[in-house]
Amino acid sequence: MNIIFLGPQGSGKGTQAELIAEKYDFNYFEAGKIFRSISDSDNPNAAMIKKHIDRGELVPEEYTRLIAWDFISKHSKNKGFLFDGYPRSLAQYEQLQDMLAKSGQKIDWVINLEIPETESVHRLSARRTCLKCGRVYNLITNPPPTDKCECGGELMQREDDQPEAIKRRLGIYRSQTHPVFEKALTEGIGLEINGEQSIEAINKEIVSKLNLS
Ligand code: AMP
Repeated sequence: MNIIFLGPQGSGKGTQAELIAEKYDFNYFEAGKIFRSISDSDNPNAAMIKKHIDRGELVPEEYTRLIAWDFISKHSKNKGFLFDGYPRSLAQYEQLQDMLAKSGQKIDWVINLEIPETESVHRLSARRTCLKCGRVYNLITNPPPTDKCECGGELMQREDDQPEAIKRRLGIYRSQTHPVFEKALTEGIGLEINGEQSIEAINKEIVSKLNLS
């Protein structure tokens, strides 16, 4: 089974995607994390990618395609793929359908975790990321054990969680990413979940609706 997780920034899709990927052993593709690690590396495109991330803009399509293809071609076809943060536009959705079709696969579910925009802004302002291991906490919904990460690392607020960048990211989500979910609904593979429930309740709903257990 191949699944896409969508949802506006702060919807908790990363938390849910990670829970499902670990428990049900998916090949887990975390687009944002991959782009962040490239932006911190000595890759020749690092500075260009960092600029887009810090501004809250999408990285150009040619890089998303390369990175997604690199992941899909190197990971086991015997396990399902779980895509988090990709695709974020209709063009990327079609790219992904084509890439999976090369090995006779398809997208089975597109899950959209929905929360109101005011809630996104509220949650993102409370997000803290560990400088050492990259783990993401939320001071409201998923707080760290102390003022440091579980690994002992310092916690910081991401550049793209600053108000201007948040607004830009939500605008891109509405205009470019949400249409992917609308398309999935017309294909009969869209599943909308209320993201304002507890982490456990959302997880239970996903597991039950996808018949995972
Ligand atoms: P995230 O951590 O999911 O919010 O992603 C952080 C940033 O990585 C985004 O704001 C984009 O700049 C970049 N990014 C992540 N996924 C994609 C994607 N599918 N297409 C283009 N850019 C992306």
